[in-house]
Amino acid sequence: MSNPSKLDYFEVFPWNRNFETGLNEIDRQHKTLVELLNKLANTLIHEEPIEINLAFEELAKYADYHFETEENTWAEYFGDDSWFINHQERHSSFLPKVLELKEKHAHLPLQEVVEEIIKFLIRWLAFHIIDDDKRLAVAVESIRFGSSIDEAKAIADRKMNGSNRVLIDTVMVMYEGLSSRTLELMRERHARKIVEQELLKANQQLERLSVTDQLTGLFNRREFEPIFNNELQRAKREGNHLNFILLDIDYFKKINDDYGHTYGDETLVKVGHKLQELCRRPSDFVFRLGGEEFAIITTTNPEQSVQLFAEKVRKGIASLKIPNKNSSVIPFLTVSAGVINISPDTSERDPSTLFKQADQHLYTAKQTGRNKVITNGVVSTCEYS
Ligand code: GH3
Ligand code: MG
Ligand code: MG
Repeated sequence: MSNPSKLDYFEVFPWNRNFETGLNEIDRQHKTLVELLNKLANTLIHEEPIEINLAFEELAKYADYHFETEENTWAEYFGDDSWFINHQERHSSFLPKVLELKEKHAHLPLQEVVEEIIKFLIRWLAFHIIDDDKRLAVAVESIRFGSSIDEAKAIADRKMNGSNRVLIDTVMVMYEGLSSRTLELMRERHARKIVEQELLKANQQLERLSVTDQLTGLFNRREFEPIFNNELQRAKREGNHLNFILLDIDYFKKINDDYGHTYGDETLVKVGHKLQELCRRPSDFVFRLGGEEFAIITTTNPEQSVQLFAEKVRKGIASLKIPNKNSSVIPFLTVSAGVINISPDTSERDPSTLFKQADQHLYTAKQTGRNKVITNGVVSTCEYS
């Protein structure tokens, strides 16, 4: 990624040797002006109105002070010559022009106003220093060597014939700076985008992990109550029945004991997959509530039978033919289920009470031989195959 400190400060107007007039004090002040302009431009990154205004005022104040120094210097050599008068006029029109820009864009956000002003300042300073001041400085040099003002002006005009080239050179240097800065920003934006995407993926994964059981990938217990509540309300609204199937593997302890814990885990995964395979409708939810206890929430219309569906689930698990050689039911893995069917007219809507009712049916199924489904207290069937 790009170096942040490099991105934090950027010289919109880099100092260039072409700006040097050869008059030390004036050059020093020009450098300060350019620094203040860069500082103002950089406040825009931080979007801090107070900071922007302060930097702006500092620059305006310094420009005023600098014009005074310059005029004193030029006055000494040019007196009331037109070059001096014109230069003085350009100085005095500077601040009013900046303020005019500020007022003209008063309806825009401060950032945009200052951006406009900065564009103007860069242009103004570049021309002011490269053309006006340098021309005057060249003439001053000739006057110092004994030329008259008119001779000195002619010499300066001749020498400054190439000033367009200098200006182009300077603008090119600024342009190169700006384009490499733009590239740097684009690279940084691209890198940030990648990081953002990775962060989003990590967040989604985290979210998925927090709602799923790690071993089977099914919903975990935490998700049970909110989904149960939601589905209860939805089924009632739509005039459907909500069904809660509580499943528990029979003699699972024996599987662990006889084949080992790893085999036990693999068995849980297989059971989970089978349940998912059997519960394909968008309104079906499969949970691993813990240990070898699973649950299904499913919605049926009044004509559909949850008993048939629960039976299909029980048989589906048995069809896996997972060995459980010491089970007292059959030598394969079986499940028992307690089911409750909640019609739109059922007044009991409290999830924990409904859960207890299903658990009661499951307990009865276990007590009366296992490998069976009991729905609302009624045994659906009792098959040993
Ligand atoms: P029942 O038919 O009465 O349900 O008998 P059971 O053996 O299935 O029930 P019990 O509650 O006695 O034993 C459940 C066993 O499940 C005990 C526990 O060690 C095991 N178990 C719980 N969670 C896991 C797990 O994540 N992986 C494995 N391999 N075993 C687990
Ligand atoms: Mg069990
Ligand atoms: Mg158990």
